[in-house]
Amino acid sequence: METHTALSHLECSRTGERFEAGKVHNLSTAGWPLLVRYDIEELRRRWDRDSLANAPSSMWRYAPLLPVRLTNHIVSLQEGLTPLHRLARLGERLECDDLWLKDEGVNPTGTFKARGISCAISMCRELGIGKVAIPTAGNAGGALAAYAAAAGIDAYVFMPRDVPQANFLEAKAFGAKVTLVDGLISDCAKKVADGKMTESWFDMSTLKEPYRIEGKKTMGLEAAEQFDWNLPDVIFYPTGGGVGLIGMWKAFAELEQLGWIGSKRPKMIAVQAEGCPPIVQAFERNAEFSEFWHGAATLASGLRVPKAMGDFLVLQAVRESGGTAVSVSDSQMMKAAEELAAHEGLFIAPEGGACMAALKKLRQSGFLSKRDRILIYNTGSGYKYLETWAGYYGSSSSTH
Ligand SMILES: *Cc1c(COP(=O)(O)O)cnc(C)c1O
Repeated sequence: METHTALSHLECSRTGERFEAGKVHNLSTAGWPLLVRYDIEELRRRWDRDSLANAPSSMWRYAPLLPVRLTNHIVSLQEGLTPLHRLARLGERLECDDLWLKDEGVNPTGTFKARGISCAISMCRELGIGKVAIPTAGNAGGALAAYAAAAGIDAYVFMPRDVPQANFLEAKAFGAKVTLVDGLISDCAKKVADGKMTESWFDMSTLKEPYRIEGKKTMGLEAAEQFDWNLPDVIFYPTGGGVGLIGMWKAFAELEQLGWIGSKRPKMIAVQAEGCPPIVQAFERNAEFSEFWHGAATLASGLRVPKAMGDFLVLQAVRESGGTAVSVSDSQMMKAAEELAAHEGLFIAPEGGACMAALKKLRQSGFLSKRDRILIYNTGSGYKYLETWAGYYGSSSSTH
């Protein structure tokens, strides 16, 4: 069966050069990330918001705005359509009247990485790719291993030796070939680059692969749908590679072109860790690109990305939106995560805690007002970070 995708072509994110859909692509010929384009004018005539009432309860409800052409190529473990929680108790404490959290921790493999990888692995199936390799800070490797297993594709995963244990164990259980690397995601990327010629791996690195962004943009489509097509005033997003932020920004433009939302956009807040804040530094310096952050260290493993391939796209979106970039310390993020757990009953990842801590900072600085409708993305489950939580309580004297 046809998905009735409006897929048109791919486009270089800097030069605008066009590339044909239906072919295997990594970066553009100029060496930049590719963006997927759709014929939205055509789609507008045959797809409306009301038809979503009968659509699947996963991110594949938006299939016309995703790149896969045939339904039997879709590799899904029921990712997406995650809950949107009103944080009433915490909102009162923080003097935020309209505070919401989208909980990506309930996705398959416990993080929103499932969205990007579901789309990317589906495209591998569509394009006949049988072997994939990924450098990962942790969670993308677990998700890749799961979806590759479900698709019958061989997965080669390179992760830092000190990733949360859950990432190593899940990838092993899913049958991936896992290599633990002494170093960071950037060192893992070198291993994939070295091996891909001889091993004929398809490189699934963040933004060197064009379709993960499409999966992640569904976070933005869902936020629009769940808020009844009125986007919030502010979005907090924990930014590593920045794919989710770039994807959401793209989603909002596509929704406006479809006529499903107006021109109002949320202020996009890129949140990073004090131990690895390249995007925050570039934002503050008014630079177009970030600089490689040496000695990156944070217990929010998803934020330990010293240089993002799509840094310029993140910075563009943040600036266009009138948002900002903020960093928080590891202890601030864990405290904020604990406060959320204790007041709302949600056990979140340190990355989600980073957003909560950044929210407090911007509330205190006056950047946010009491009435703003604020949406926080918790990108992962606390259950994937048990040793991080154990460390937090081990070093705290106020446990019992
Ligand atoms: C990967 C990851 C991030 C960062 O995501 P990007 O979209 O690449 O910025 C944040 N949180 C968690 C839990 C992650 O696994």
